[in-house]
Formats: sequence, structure tokens, C-alpha cells
Amino acid sequence: MSATCPQCEASDRSVPVSLALADTTEPLEEPVRALLAPPPEPKPARELSGGAIALSALAAIFAVVGILSLVRDREDLSGYDAAYRAGYLAGPFILPLILLAAAAIVELVARSRRRPGSGSPEEAAHRQPHARVWQAGWLCRRCRVAFFPEASIRPGFPASPAIPLEQFPHWVMTAAERAFGAQARPVAG
Ligand SMILES: [Zn+2]
Repeated sequence: MSATCPQCEASDRSVPVSLALADTTEPLEEPVRALLAPPPEPKPARELSGGAIALSALAAIFAVVGILSLVRDREDLSGYDAAYRAGYLAGPFILPLILLAAAAIVELVARSRRRPGSGSPEEAAHRQPHARVWQAGWLCRRCRVAFFPEASIRPGFPASPAIPLEQFPHWVMTAAERAFGAQARPVAG
């Protein structure tokens, strides 16, 4: 498989970006490698499940109520032994701690039910549009430009012009947005 470089209009020196990075016979210089590196993996979803949020909120409410009652009551505990005093002070926080533990368990169960990696290729593209665009990138070793052949990113997506390597990371982001409606993200680093 080869692709024609839009600058020199030859294909003899063009190579997919991913292969160029892995090529040990003709290794790329470090600055070029950095520019052509794959986009950072999207962070796993951070949203908590509804149940975990509700339990955490309850825990917070009970903790606040507990603190308020301790502050308000200010009982004289000097006549009691250390264990009783500790129990008295810790008491209001036991329920919030149990609720937090329950929230953690609910969250773990919810996460194990979310199955990453399943679904259609369209869904996969929607999840990892930047990686998909990056996968489609080519490098012309002669011109030292990157390019995307016609329909390489997505069926019907037009061919790119010759892209200076410094603009390659930015191009991946904007093409992902145009091709898959991905949210543009700040480039890491
Ligand atoms: Zn070329």
C-alpha cells in the first residue's frame, strides 16, 4: 500500500506515520518523533454513577450534621475514659464512613458493568477520533511533510494538503473534529 505525496506527487518515499515511528532501519529524529507521536489516550470517563453520587451526598450531609452536633453539644467528657471519649467523638462519622464505603462499592459495580471496547466501529470512532485520524496519517520522507490521502480518515473525507510536521498535531485535532465531531482538546505537554 502506498499513497502519493501531495507535494512531490510521488509515493516512493511515503510511509504511514505509525510505521515511520516504528521503523528502526531509517529512524526519525527525536523532534520529528515528538511531532508525529500518537495523540494522548482519552482519559477514562470520570463521571460517578448516580447511586454513588447520592450516597456520597448523604455521607456529606451526615458528616456536616455530625460536626455541627459536636460543636453545639460540647459535652464535658472529662469524667469518662478515653475509649468512651473517642467513641463519642467518632460516633457522628461512622454513618458517613459507611455511606462512603457503600458509594465506593456501588461505583465499582457500575464501572465493571461499563464495558469499554464493545460496540460498533462507528462508536469506537466516536470514542477515539483523534487516534483514528492519527492512524490515517502518512509521512513523505523526501519532503518531510505529513498528509492524509483522500477518504483515509473517513469515507468521503477529502485529501489533505501537504502538512508541515509542526502543524501535524494541530491538524489531527481539527480533522478529528471535522470528521467525527470530536471536541478539540488542548494538546498535552
Ligand atoms: Zn513528497
